[in-house]
Amino acid sequence: MSVLVVGSFIVDCVATCKRAPEAGETVVGDSYNTYLGGKGANQAFASIRMGSKTTMVGCVGNDGFGKQFFETLEAEGFNTNVVKVSELNSTGVSLVTVEHSGQNRICMTPGANLDYYVEDLDKIEELVKESEIIVTQLEMRYDIAAHLAKLAKKHGKKFILNPAPAREIDDEVIASCYIMTPNETELGIIINRKIETMDEYIEGAKVLLEKGCQNVIVTLGTVGSLLVNKDGHKLVPAFKVKAVDTVGAGDSFTGSLSAMLDQGREMLDAMQIATAVAALEVQRKGAIPAMPYREEVFKFLEEKGIVYE
Ligand code: ADP
Repeated sequence: MSVLVVGSFIVDCVATCKRAPEAGETVVGDSYNTYLGGKGANQAFASIRMGSKTTMVGCVGNDGFGKQFFETLEAEGFNTNVVKVSELNSTGVSLVTVEHSGQNRICMTPGANLDYYVEDLDKIEELVKESEIIVTQLEMRYDIAAHLAKLAKKHGKKFILNPAPAREIDDEVIASCYIMTPNETELGIIINRKIETMDEYIEGAKVLLEKGCQNVIVTLGTVGSLLVNKDGHKLVPAFKVKAVDTVGAGDSFTGSLSAMLDQGREMLDAMQIATAVAALEVQRKGAIPAMPYREEVFKFLEEKGIVYE
């Protein structure tokens, strides 16, 4: 049993300031922080902290941020032999300014995340074979997600696609998904339809089911997450908590959901546990630093009167 995450490594470089600069202007900010992230890395950390053997595959640059990722992965117990180091590109970076009002501006350069190719993926086919759950997103080349879907299918593995950032997705990829986990905006983009109500989310998810996706879980922020499959639909409500930073909420959900399914949990139980993971995650700053560990999650659930074996 194990989870394989193929995905992005991105460092958020965040400066806060009273007002963001206009073109050609320099403003003096008041704080600066770097946060290791990227949807792939976030999901891998969520999975490993929930106790699943997890492997993270992707590409960093041959630079300081790349080294920082290696150290952080090793400290968490990941095998870094399957992380590629690009000689061509720098590690993926997001330059972010956050105004005191909360308004942010982001320039993201994928860098080394785009220096990972289908041939690289073929080299780790053995890992696909050894894993139970295969997870990816759309922050690397689209070819990577498409090829990974094929490899997962070839080896009869459960393929989970977190379709973010959203884009058009081939029918073949959709048909390979055991689960797709879009938020409501992403679902709208994928099916190219304006969706705003619960009924429309359900109908939207059904478009993906008709194309062969087995389960769609639409994440709906503070509302919760909606499972739609051949048996019908079910909403798992979010926990009411005081959120301080919702960056990584969706990643904590998909990563921990993957781990729970890997550990043999039923779908709705896995969703309930992932909902608790996300509730803990949003109460702390950052994405990876905020990912809770298994013990804390089950304690939180117990406090809510939800007890699992
Ligand atoms: P994304 O980050 O991809 O937009 P969502 O915002 O839908 O994803 O969040 C994913 C899950 O995280 C939700 O289904 C919900 O369970 C949980 N969640 C998100 N925001 C909050 C919040 N403010 N309070 C509690 N749970 C939250």
